[in-house]
Amino acid sequence: MKIRATPKDDAMCGWYHTAPARQARPAHMGNTTTRWTVLGAGFTGLAAARQLAAHYPDQEIVLVDAQEVGFGTSGRNAGFAIDLPHDIGAEDYIGDIGIAKTTLKLNRLGQTILHGLVEQHGIDCQLRASGKYQAAVEPRGIAVLEAYRRGLDKLGEPYEVIPGKDLPGHLGTAFYRQALFTPGTMLVQPSALVKGLADTLPPNVTLYENTPITEVDYGDKVTLTHTKGRIVSDKLILANNAFGARFGFLQRTVLPMYLYASLTRPLTEAEQASLGGKPFWGVIPADPYGSTVRRTHDNRILIRNSFSFNPDQQSRPDCLARFVHKHRESFARRFPMLPEVDFDYTWSGSLALTQNHQSFFGQLAPNVYGALFCNGLGITRGTVTGTLLADMIAGQRHELTDFLLSTSSPNVLPPEPFLSVGVNATLWWGQRKAGRES
Ligand SMILES: Cc1cc2nc3c(=O)[nH]c(=O)nc-3n(C[C@H](O)[C@H](O)[C@H](O)COP(=O)(O)OP(=O)(O)OC[C@H]3O[C@@H](n4cnc5c(N)ncnc54)[C@H](O)[C@@H]3O)c2cc1C
Repeated sequence: MKIRATPKDDAMCGWYHTAPARQARPAHMGNTTTRWTVLGAGFTGLAAARQLAAHYPDQEIVLVDAQEVGFGTSGRNAGFAIDLPHDIGAEDYIGDIGIAKTTLKLNRLGQTILHGLVEQHGIDCQLRASGKYQAAVEPRGIAVLEAYRRGLDKLGEPYEVIPGKDLPGHLGTAFYRQALFTPGTMLVQPSALVKGLADTLPPNVTLYENTPITEVDYGDKVTLTHTKGRIVSDKLILANNAFGARFGFLQRTVLPMYLYASLTRPLTEAEQASLGGKPFWGVIPADPYGSTVRRTHDNRILIRNSFSFNPDQQSRPDCLARFVHKHRESFARRFPMLPEVDFDYTWSGSLALTQNHQSFFGQLAPNVYGALFCNGLGITRGTVTGTLLADMIAGQRHELTDFLLSTSSPNVLPPEPFLSVGVNATLWWGQRKAGRES
């Protein structure tokens, strides 16, 4: 089977360029036979490979990625390693309390794994347990915060409601009318984190970067082919997110979306003084189509908003050029005290959404497994699902594995052209409705 789309991200990801530089591992060449191959070296694949290596210390685990580690989606996100569930299909954003509690356990396990690895290996990635602000400016957004507050009460999780008049003391900007602060989120420089995770893999993991797999052949063994060679494995673990659906399974279940972000230059001391507020924070929008905003450890501001539906799974320069203007407007609305601050970087990243927000976790064929479709929350979730998938393959199952297996059912999507028409209309309306939240 030919793989008709492989990842080719744009070159201007600010996290990638401002993370500590590293030497990429060589691309794969020639023929290799191995027991295990993990495809995709993002959060999910790195976790799966590391855990498989721990279960099978005498066996080689091959980990392969189309691009350099830290250059793909895992290095392109907003860097919120979130603990709390946020079910946008439920009225109070918490929904079924049993599912919400297990989701919380999963996310916290993901955080614990990441935090442990960062500490153990001294990974320089600015991981901080700084919590997150969920902020609103429009009445609809305030209503979302109110509903989420009720959901958090139901779940028994702490939060603080911060009225608009106090927000400049936190964020500098007087833009927002209200925020809900929840303490459990960790913020991170995502590209620095995945680069660090890749450089601290156990010695029995062999990582090949810049190796796009263009053909797969399933049989007693799985053969992955690329332009310079082949990897033949007893078992394959697909950890390549939206691109997983190109490998013959779960077809028509995933929506390949692209998200857009910009990062400013570092603020000068005078600009920091005129901004005010705390030196390090992260805001997610009450409206899913609103803007995520961060003040980073190196005093830059990140703005993340705008979506596009790219069924060919390729990044689109025309969207980048269009959305940088939206980022500028969103920045100007929030930070009128920083009129001279330009963006150093603007980039896009691919996201795998499913219609019912379910990911895939489990076995796809006798010798193929997958942890796929991040649904926008892959830092903690990818880490924990990659780890638990490796545990399951090694014969270890627990409560969380059973939960993942029982909820692993992405819906089948409508056929084209209805799909594109429906998705584009939803995006257009959502982004318009977001109003000043964007
Ligand atoms: C702008 C943006 C903001 C986001 N913000 C957040 C956030 O704040 N918090 C959060 O938790 N999540 C966020 N996300 C989502 C998060 O980035 C993903 O959930 C996460 O990266 C998923 O990790 P993964 O390892 O499953 O997949 P990926 O990171 O997509 O990794 C899959 C890997 O597979 C490789 N691959 C694919 N096909 C092939 C092939 N044919 N051959 C070889 N390799 C292949 C790719 O190169 C890629 O490196 C955001 C995403 C974007 C785009």
